[in-house]
Amino acid sequence: MAAPKVAVVGAGVIGLSTALCIVETCPSCSVTVLSDQFSPNTTSDVAAGMLIPHTYPGTPIHVQKQWFKETFTYLFAISNSAEASEAGIHLVSGWQVFKSTPEEELPFWSDAVLGFRPMSEAELQKFPQYRFGQAFTTLKCDCPPYLLWLEKRLKATGVQMYNRKVSDLWELCSEYDIIVNCAGIGAHQLVGDKKLFPVRGQVLKVYAPWVKNFIRDGDGLTYIYPGIHRVTLGGTREKESWSLSPDPGTTKDIFDRCCSLEPSLQEAQDIKVKVGLRPSRQCVRLQREVLSQGGVKLLVVHNYGHGAGGFSVHRGTAKEAARLVGECIAALQSSSSGAKL
Ligand code: FAD
Repeated sequence: MAAPKVAVVGAGVIGLSTALCIVETCPSCSVTVLSDQFSPNTTSDVAAGMLIPHTYPGTPIHVQKQWFKETFTYLFAISNSAEASEAGIHLVSGWQVFKSTPEEELPFWSDAVLGFRPMSEAELQKFPQYRFGQAFTTLKCDCPPYLLWLEKRLKATGVQMYNRKVSDLWELCSEYDIIVNCAGIGAHQLVGDKKLFPVRGQVLKVYAPWVKNFIRDGDGLTYIYPGIHRVTLGGTREKESWSLSPDPGTTKDIFDRCCSLEPSLQEAQDIKVKVGLRPSRQCVRLQREVLSQGGVKLLVVHNYGHGAGGFSVHRGTAKEAARLVGECIAALQSSSSGAKL
C-alpha cells in the first residue's frame, strides 16, 4: 500500500501538536495541515498557556492526569533545552490563593507540577483577603511563539500546510485516507457536535516586566500569568457566548480584580485586549470514527473539545490521537489486503 495520506484539520495547539505526534509515530505517513486560520489568529493564540489543568467531568481523572503528566514532561524537557526561548516555554512559580480552605487541598495534579506545598503564613500576608494558598512551579507556553515553533518543526519534517476552510469532512475523501479533526470550536459546525459549546474568555496582555510570579484566585476567574514578554490578566468564562468583540466594561473589571491581587499592576502599560472561545465539552472528544456514505468509508480521528485546558493536556491528547491514527493505518492495510475496515 502507498504511504497513507493524513489530513489534520486545524492549526491551533491541538492540530499542530497532533500533526507532530503523527509524524513522530507514523513516519511513513504523508501529513498535511488544513486550516482556515493559523497563528496569530486562533483561540490558542489568545490563551495564557499555563499548565494548570482544568477538570473534564466526563473523563476519568487517571486519564486526565496521564495527559497532563505527558504534556508536562514534554515541555519540561524543552524548557531545559536551547530551544526554550524560541519555543516560548518557561518555568514559572507562584501562588493559587483561596478565600476559604478548599475541599480538595491536594488537587489530582499536585504531584505532576514541581514543589507543590501549602503557602506559608509569610507568603499569605501578601494576600490579606485570602485564608489559604498553594505554592508551586509549573510551565507556561507563550503564544504565538509556541505555535510558530510547532509549525517550524512540522515544515522541517516535510508537512504541508494550507489555508483552507473545510465545510464537510467528506470533501477531503478523495484526497486523503485519514482525517484528523482538530477544529476546536469549529467542530460545532464542521461535525454538528451539539455537545460542544463556547465558553468566551476575555483577557488583557500587558507590559509589566517586574511581575515574575503567577497569582491565581482559586475560583479560576482572576489570574495574573507572567510570560516572557507580557503578562496575561484574566479573565472571564461566559458559557454559550459566541461574541469575539472585547467588552470595555469587562476590561475594566478584569484590570481592577487583578490590581486588587497585585497592586503594582496599576503601573502596567500597553494594555491589549483579546477574546477567545474555549471549545468546551463534558469530555475531550478523542476517538476513532468510520463515516459511511453510499458504500464509501471515511476514516476519522477526532481530537477536540479541550475547553479551558488545551495547553495543559495537548501533548497527552496528541499522542493518543496519533495512536488512533496508527489503528486506522492498520485497518487500511488489512482492508487493502482483503479484510473489512
Ligand atoms: P483552536 O486554537 O481554536 O484551533 C482550532 C483550529 O481549527 C484553528 O486553526 C481554526 O482556524 C481551525 N478550524 C476550525 N474550523 C475549521 C474548518 N471548518 N476548516 C478548517 N479549519 C478550521 N488552556 C490552558 O491549558 N491554559 C491556559 O492558561 C489557558 N488560558 C486560556 C485563556 C483564554 C482567554 C482562553 C479563551 C482559553 C484558554 N485556554 C487555556 C484554553 C485553550 O486556549 C484551548 O483549550 C486551546 O487553545 C484549544 O486549542 P484548539 O487547537 O483545539 O483550538
